[in-house]
Amino acid sequence: MNERRHPKLPSVKGEGARGGAAFIDEDRLHALLRGRPEATEVRAALAKAMAKEPLTVEETATLLTADGELVAEQLEAARALKTAVYGNRIVLFAPLYVGNACVNDCTYCGFRRSNPDCVRRTLGDAELDAQTRALVRQGHKRLILVFGEHPDYDADFIAESVRRVYAVREGHGNIRRVNINAAPLDRAGYATVRDAGIGTYQVFQETYHRATYARVHPRNTRKGDYDWRLTSLGRAMEAGLDDVGIGALFGLYDWRFETLALVAHANHLREVYGCGPHTISFPRLRPASGVADDHPFLPSDDELERIVATLRLAVPYTGLILTAREPAALRRRVMAYGVSQIDAGSRLELGGYTEVGDAQSQVQVREREQFELGDVRSLDTVMRELVDDGYLPSFCTACYRLGRTGEHFMEFAIPGFIKRLCTPNALCTLEEYLVDHATPATRAAGEALIAREVAAMEGDKLVSKVKDRLARIATSDERDLVF
Ligand code: SF4
Ligand code: SF4
Repeated sequence: MNERRHPKLPSVKGEGARGGAAFIDEDRLHALLRGRPEATEVRAALAKAMAKEPLTVEETATLLTADGELVAEQLEAARALKTAVYGNRIVLFAPLYVGNACVNDCTYCGFRRSNPDCVRRTLGDAELDAQTRALVRQGHKRLILVFGEHPDYDADFIAESVRRVYAVREGHGNIRRVNINAAPLDRAGYATVRDAGIGTYQVFQETYHRATYARVHPRNTRKGDYDWRLTSLGRAMEAGLDDVGIGALFGLYDWRFETLALVAHANHLREVYGCGPHTISFPRLRPASGVADDHPFLPSDDELERIVATLRLAVPYTGLILTAREPAALRRRVMAYGVSQIDAGSRLELGGYTEVGDAQSQVQVREREQFELGDVRSLDTVMRELVDDGYLPSFCTACYRLGRTGEHFMEFAIPGFIKRLCTPNALCTLEEYLVDHATPATRAAGEALIAREVAAMEGDKLVSKVKDRLARIATSDERDLVF
């Protein structure tokens, strides 16, 4: 039973956003993608990206239309830029599906309203608490709550869910940052969820190509309104919620067009609101309940690699999220080209962290999830692989909670930001994970990584503070010691 019901979807009257939807000019994007750039143009764009300057849509188009050795140069540049901006850190999170009732009928989704096989459910208060506790026990500190589009899931309901999740305590752990993936809201709705202390609000356009959008989102549904969705995150910013996430569902239309449109969207937000998106997501279509596996536009693995590299170069300050939709081996391969956040230990079934065999199980129940995951390994297994590959897994949520918003901008704006804040916080949150949640093998590998990272800091006046905090975490109940 849903214990938390509310009556209506937001009104759309007078709820455009500054600049409207004109920033996606399809004819222009298509024309740019027909270009054949000179090598000098491609290399000029790469040089600008390596100076950590965002690229224009025109410059991004030269990257997307380059071929041969210029693609190899692009991949190498993306790899180097990722290291320069983010170091070896990777931030971990998990999705938590709160309700899958939905008034929409998106053709690619297992939760669409016309799917008779879909098992519908909205977590009640106790169920939401139980899922959160299970995620805290895994070691998670950062969640994204996911909601279908339904009158039951209005801004008050979302805000109340966020507050419940923040209130859960389990052992030494709790959730420190809650992001949201839900339907577009009006300005008042965004202000309501902002006041609940959310991190990022994600709305994916799915496809920026209007004809394709109309084909996969029936006109008589709420999601059929392309402009309402496209302008939604502008409304969020106008409501004072400047931490937003954009995304496209790759496989619905041409991957080059969608990548270019994502950059156009990011640049529009930066130009109009002075702050680009916090994150960009680039999910590919996956098998789902009642959905035919017939996607002529699905990008290949090599093309996904180029999507990641192009986005890394075009928007160097924006987080890139690679989810467990993708199989483990591909995630491992693509990560190096610019990914900054991944999920792990994820379950998409409603209640899946304590039911359906729980997070350790490899079995998925298609009728209970939006789509099938490609990587169902446990958080501990993924942590071990990251450490073995030389990454520094981080559960850091410090900036948002200390009021340092626009965090990726700050990484650029303040010299030494990564060294003074991100790396120490990554080390402390990794130590928390190792002490409270890791298997012995992962703990041993993680402690060795921490020792190497601390040794590399010797000579820096910060090192004694870092050592002190690591020791306090290891030997006491003190947690959440943020820089
Ligand atoms: Fe509903 Fe989202 Fe699925 Fe569309 S993609 S049917 S809005 S849950
Ligand atoms: Fe992100 Fe701030 Fe933590 Fe760095 S210190 S990882 S910018 S939250």
